[in-house]
This record gives sequence, structure tokens and C-alpha cells, in this order.
Amino acid sequence: MQEPSKRLPISSSSIGVTFLGTASAMPSSTRNHSALALRLGSDVWIFDCGEATQHQIQKSSVKMGKIEKVFITHTHGDHIFGLLPLLAGCLNGAGGTAEGVDDPRTQVNLKEPPLEIYGPLGTRAYLRNGLKFTHTLFGRPFVVHELRFPNDPETQDYTELPPHPAESPAGRNIPQIDGVWPEIYKDDVLSVSAAPILHSVPCVGYVIIEAPVPGKIDPRKYIPDIKRTKTPMSVMRTLQEGGSVELSDGTVLQGPPRRNGRKVVILGDTYDPSPIVPLALEADLLIHEATNAHLPGVDLATKDVDSFETVQERAISRGHSTPQMAGAFAKRIGAKRLILNHFSSRYPGDDDVNPFAKKIMDAIANLAAAEYGDTVLCARDLMSVELALPPQ
Ligand SMILES: [Zn+2]
Ligand SMILES: [Zn+2]
Repeated sequence: MQEPSKRLPISSSSIGVTFLGTASAMPSSTRNHSALALRLGSDVWIFDCGEATQHQIQKSSVKMGKIEKVFITHTHGDHIFGLLPLLAGCLNGAGGTAEGVDDPRTQVNLKEPPLEIYGPLGTRAYLRNGLKFTHTLFGRPFVVHELRFPNDPETQDYTELPPHPAESPAGRNIPQIDGVWPEIYKDDVLSVSAAPILHSVPCVGYVIIEAPVPGKIDPRKYIPDIKRTKTPMSVMRTLQEGGSVELSDGTVLQGPPRRNGRKVVILGDTYDPSPIVPLALEADLLIHEATNAHLPGVDLATKDVDSFETVQERAISRGHSTPQMAGAFAKRIGAKRLILNHFSSRYPGDDDVNPFAKKIMDAIANLAAAEYGDTVLCARDLMSVELALPPQ
């Protein structure tokens, strides 16, 4: 287990998501393949890394140099094809030296903090093979932690290749405990757990939880006692953190209790994410795919033979969800906010400027909202949402 990095508390307004790609199987001129950036204070965690994620980051306000971790939901190409170039961009992977000239990158200091990558079995093999056959060297280390399903081998990596020169040997193979992967990462401020979700290949959903944060303090409640006993005002800091302070006359002041931090649930492709329910309850934000929708009268390509039932059956048979399925799941876990992503290339992603696209995306959001019981947002490439702390 690696030393957890020291993380500063995240201020009340600085957790947010930037959608980098919102397409399903085929990208289009208005939707890139799957990727999103979770912004945590100044740090960035990337979830899925489809083709051209690096380009999307360059078009966004997300800083490449702040990427600390990458989480892959499954190894379908539309979720991982962009990982090698992203790493090359982050870890000084460009260029090389002619024969006979030493490249210092063959001697990477593996003791440096690595860029961490989490994903199912195959993530490590994909990277090792891709790096080997493209002769890619890195100036900084990376590490791959794999979430192993019960039928996966415990130790092998799907490849006979030895670790890449920049690959830290600290990569773990994380077994399930009671059907989930609890706390695959944890520091003072954040933890990440994961669970399998049902798709056409092994697939994972991630739950990111902020540790309890200080409660809201009303200084008027404390100041008269503090002034009366001539106690330094600096005790307010202890009270703000939820601690207690005994004053010179024996009065004990108790700060407000800590309140729950934010919880974000990011699902990969799925037709049934039920196994993640126990971890995902009461999420402040759920991000759920909605690949296929039946939109008669709105989507002009709707076939007469189709109905809500046939479209749902077809979505499920391909491992995917409809907006109604996403809405029902959000309701089931009591999610406070639902954002849909991973849309068919039939649905253009320029709904901010294209009235036709807006009509379609509004119809998709409404289908989900009818099941969910609240408003629903459809993600668009480069859209950012902020996640403020809930009121006390
Ligand atoms: Zn996909
Ligand atoms: Zn997939």
C-alpha cells in the first residue's frame, strides 16, 4: 500500500465535473469519446479516457499538469483508446534519441510519486503493450492498480511483457470484498470505492466520497462567552472544526457537528448497475449513461416498428441503458442530481447552439426526469458543473 498523499481540505465550491467526451460507440464532430474530469480543488482525476481526450483537455480549462489519477470503467476502446497519448502528454513521453545516445528516461526514478491508474484486468497489459511497441518512454513513473473480478486470475496480467521502465512495481491487484471494491483509494479528504456494473464486458462504477466537513458555525452563539472570559478569538478555529473549548470560568463551548461531504457516483456503460446500489445511496451527483432513446415525433429517424419497449430491449441486449432506466436508477439510490452521458452518435451534441439538437436532448432529459421525479441534465462536451456543499 502506498503512502496516501497529503491533501488539503477542498473548499465548499471547488468540486466540479468537466465532461470531455459524451459519445457512445462512434464519435462525431460534436461529441468526443468518453472521458470526464473530476476537479477536486486544484487536483484533477480523469474518469475514462477515450480517443482524443488529450485534445479535449487542451480545449477545456482542465490543466494537464494537475492530473493525479485516471480511473477506467472498462477496456472498450471508446473508454481507453486515449490513455496512451494522455500519459505521453502528462509524463514527458514524446520524442526519443538516436542509436548510441542514452535516453535518460530509461532510468526513471520509480520512487517519485507515480501517476495512478485504476481499471479492470487488461488495463495494465494494454498499457505495457502499447508503450512497448510504440517505443514510448516516460520521464516520470506511473502505476496501474487493477480491480479484479472473482473469475479473474489473482496474479497474472494478460501479458508476458515485463513492466515498462516507468511502471512502478507498487501496482496492486485488488480483489472484491463482499461483491465490491471498498476504499481502493483513501486519504484524509477523499476516498474512492468501486463496484461491478453490468455491461457486455467487465465494467466498473466508481463512488468518490469527500470526508465529513465542518458544520456551519454561527459566531453569535459563541462570541459573548469568548469575550466575557477574555479568551483569544483563535479558539473559533477549534469550534469551526467541530471541537470543544473549555473557557476560564468552566463554560464548555461545543462547535457544530461535522456534516457529510459530497458523494459523486460515476458509472461506466451499463444496462444494470444494481451491484453498486449499497455504495451509491444518497449520491449528490450521479452520472449515468443513456445510450439509446425512443423519441417518436422528435427524432425523425425513428422507425415505425419501434416502441419504448423494443428500444429498451435493444439497449439492454447491447449492454446499455435508456434515459428512463437512468432516471429509475437515480430515483432508486436517492441521487440528488442526475446527469446523463454516453449518447448515440444520432444525437448531436451542439444543443447549446442547434435548436434541432436541443429538441432531442430536451426530450431525452424529459424521459429520464419522468422516472426520476426531478430535472435531469444531458452532458455536452466541455460542459462543466459545480457541486457545492449541500446546506447544513
Ligand atoms: Zn462506451
Ligand atoms: Zn462499453
